[in-house]
Amino acid sequence: MSTFTDLRLSKPILRSIEEQGYDTPTPIQIQAIPHLIEGRDLLGIAQTGTGKTAAFALPILDFLASDPQAPAPRQPSVLVLTPTRELATQISESFRVYGRYLKVRHAVVFGGVNQRPQVNALRQGIDVLVATPGRLIDLMEQGHIDLGAVEIFVLDEADRMLDMGFIHPIRKVVATLPRERQSLLFSATMPPDIVELTRSILRNPLRIEVAPPATTVDLVTQSVLFVEKSDKRELLGEILRDPSIERALVFTRTKHGANRVVKHLRQIGEKADAIHGNKSQGARERALNSFRSGHLRVLVATDIAARGIDVPDITHVINFELPNIPDNYVHRIGRTARAGRNGAAISFCDTDERPYLRDIEKTIRCKITIVEDHPFRSKTPLTQFPNKPASKRKTAKFSLRNRGRGRALGRTSHR
Ligand code: AMP
Repeated sequence: MSTFTDLRLSKPILRSIEEQGYDTPTPIQIQAIPHLIEGRDLLGIAQTGTGKTAAFALPILDFLASDPQAPAPRQPSVLVLTPTRELATQISESFRVYGRYLKVRHAVVFGGVNQRPQVNALRQGIDVLVATPGRLIDLMEQGHIDLGAVEIFVLDEADRMLDMGFIHPIRKVVATLPRERQSLLFSATMPPDIVELTRSILRNPLRIEVAPPATTVDLVTQSVLFVEKSDKRELLGEILRDPSIERALVFTRTKHGANRVVKHLRQIGEKADAIHGNKSQGARERALNSFRSGHLRVLVATDIAARGIDVPDITHVINFELPNIPDNYVHRIGRTARAGRNGAAISFCDTDERPYLRDIEKTIRCKITIVEDHPFRSKTPLTQFPNKPASKRKTAKFSLRNRGRGRALGRTSHR
């Protein structure tokens, strides 16, 4: 078995890893780090939760530590491009933590906040710049950033970037990078436009594909409750009476939907808040911090806002609305069961959403256990479920109150 010492990282890095309590490297770290230290380009097919941030941050820090130079103003030598502010903040925090015993300067830039502190940080000189595309380009156009000295470029969550319409900004950024550089591209999925992007960015890359963290199939207990749309809020209230739900992330498809759920939860005395694209950066951070600290038990989020947020100990993911993109289901439920813990994913499915459920089950290649015994059971017969006759589907009974986690919700059936 590999250890971090086998990966030949420098001592100050090993010390910070040890302090983080990491015993062994994850599969992507084992496979990627030695090649990245040698300067190879990388295509990493991996999603959040696999340890991919450390897989690139550790060898980058090692590279910077091996040849310390005073950073030049406005000219980072490492650029990490990532789609959302939350991810940018988390990546920058990883550089801070892993680089604690090194003299490496890093900065993070993203939109929605005053640019002045970001500009000041850039002026003082930085080694690593973590950025979202929009603000990066704004600052480049104003002359605050010069990418002419970049030696390592990381494109994180490339598929998400494209989903969010960042293809032109990405191309613009890449066009200003030196041709001689090391490039890393990470993507959870490989649709044709990512394959195309990979060709234009990477040179003879090493391709590493790691399985999603053992979430969907092994560690998350998944269940689905058929319910009419109009009963969903009451059902949510009922479910949240279960004290074993210590920290729940509730998903809606839209920002307005998220606000409506929060309003209802507050009316019934539940401490809840929402994160989505219409909230200011400050409001999102406050909500996330309250959720992390346990002050809020319930956080309501849209898919994009929740993407990549790393809050440990989420015991339950509740899909108040099913996602219309099946991959989002996998991303959602991957928020629970982090670092090998068990978690539960409870999905509400109204009549209109049944086709979404069918697509999700195709994607995860298993049937989700149906919970029949709840007070808001949909009257629409299950035989109308477009996928399979009711007799062939597995169902589970459980009482909504005082359920033990895992026990009551039944395990996912694999067929
Ligand atoms: P990521 O896939 O980069 O979002 O990482 C997911 C989580 O795994 C983060 O909370 C990291 O702190 C944690 N992590 C990364 N590498 C390791 C490791 N080798 N051992 C334990 N936890 C890790």
